[in-house]
Amino acid sequence: MPIEPPVSTPRDLSEAYALLSDGAGWRPIAGGTDLMVQITGELSEPPEHVLDIWRLDQLRGISVGHDGATLTIGALTTYTEIRRSSAVREHLPALAEAAATIGAAQIQNRGTIGGNIVNASPAGDTLPVLLAADAAIVLGSARGERTIAAAGFWTGYRETARSADELVLGVEFPLQSGRTLRFRKVGTRRAQAISKVVMALAYRADGGVWRDVRVALGSVAATPVRARETEGVLEGAAARKSSADHAAATIVREITPIDDVRSTAAYRRAVTGRILHRMLREEGGW
Ligand SMILES: Cc1cc2nc3c(=O)[nH]c(=O)nc-3n(C[C@H](O)[C@H](O)[C@H](O)COP(=O)(O)OP(=O)(O)OC[C@H]3O[C@@H](n4cnc5c(N)ncnc54)[C@H](O)[C@@H]3O)c2cc1C
Repeated sequence: MPIEPPVSTPRDLSEAYALLSDGAGWRPIAGGTDLMVQITGELSEPPEHVLDIWRLDQLRGISVGHDGATLTIGALTTYTEIRRSSAVREHLPALAEAAATIGAAQIQNRGTIGGNIVNASPAGDTLPVLLAADAAIVLGSARGERTIAAAGFWTGYRETARSADELVLGVEFPLQSGRTLRFRKVGTRRAQAISKVVMALAYRADGGVWRDVRVALGSVAATPVRARETEGVLEGAAARKSSADHAAATIVREITPIDDVRSTAAYRRAVTGRILHRMLREEGGW
């Protein structure tokens, strides 16, 4: 039997906000690459009413602020747009790299960064990049706009700090000169692979010492997470093999992966330690 919940296509944000606050349980649909998989209700709660936001062009686009301090990406921006953006490639190459690993061309042409954020899968590939970059998520509703740090957005397994009447409008990335952000995804194949482990690492190399360290991970816990104990081990540590050894041993203990169809917990632990060690070694040059 075809499953066709009622669909409404608002022409502007205020129309979308009015519907989202009318109590009828509207679920936004952007690219539909996650929602259409859920629509039969076999995998999760199916949407009762669908709010098609694809035409809200004000939620598209990539821009760098006049002061050069922030890169903003609209929620409806697709992975193809992200990976082709000269601004992203210049200021946030790790995000372009992450976008290029998602699905394959069909998914990259349709899937959006806003959808990845709200779908809140622990395996969402852009999410560790947002965490490591200290990004902020901008939300809007009839009640106004607010901004939430990525570090506080994913609150439980597939749960977020977003209220049902809110749309994600976009993501703001602070641009910090001298800071390096790196990305690594481990999956079964180079394309069409949901990650076994995904990592983003950010740091500033300051006279042979690591500073402002962020280690963010996907697919190793119920939510995308920062490995704060490991960050603490690296913060202020000399860029030497002994620090990398200590950090790798710490992260293997700190994460809480599970066995599932894509990998085992033991493999996830082992590979997480190794990719962190390798990234640090490449930076340290020993
Ligand atoms: C074959 C295949 C391969 C895939 N491979 C990967 C992969 O490698 N890595 C990966 O991370 N993901 C992957 N995905 C998952 C998916 O493509 C991404 O999560 C994508 O970013 C979802 O974006 P979307 O625009 O299609 O979201 P949609 O399906 O439209 O929506 C997803 C969820 O977000 C909500 N939503 C969307 N936009 C907004 C908004 N602006 N405000 C509020 N709520 C919103 C919807 O209500 C829904 O709950 C894959 C999916 C498929 C089908």
